[in-house]
Amino acid sequence: MLKSAATGVDAMAMIRRVEGSDEATLSTRCPHCGIVEVPTLAVTVWHPHGEEGGRYSFICPRCGAVKNKAIDADTAGILWAAGASRADDG
Ligand SMILES: [Zn+2]
Repeated sequence: MLKSAATGVDAMAMIRRVEGSDEATLSTRCPHCGIVEVPTLAVTVWHPHGEEGGRYSFICPRCGAVKNKAIDADTAGILWAAGASRADDG
């Protein structure tokens, strides 16, 4: 199940559309709190042009800590499509 653990990519990232609205939530893991649900609007994604990998950051809704996770290009695209903000500071 966790086959991509060796790459460091966040295999736990899962996006769920909120029924009947434009909102979506990202199920991710906070090291302190375990699995948490974060609105995709509160997620910022970095994916510098021309690079294979990127990362996203979110504020944990339970402990308030800012967390960063590595992602691949596909996941970055999915997050943007789901409403995450784009940070092109790369
Ligand atoms: Zn937390």
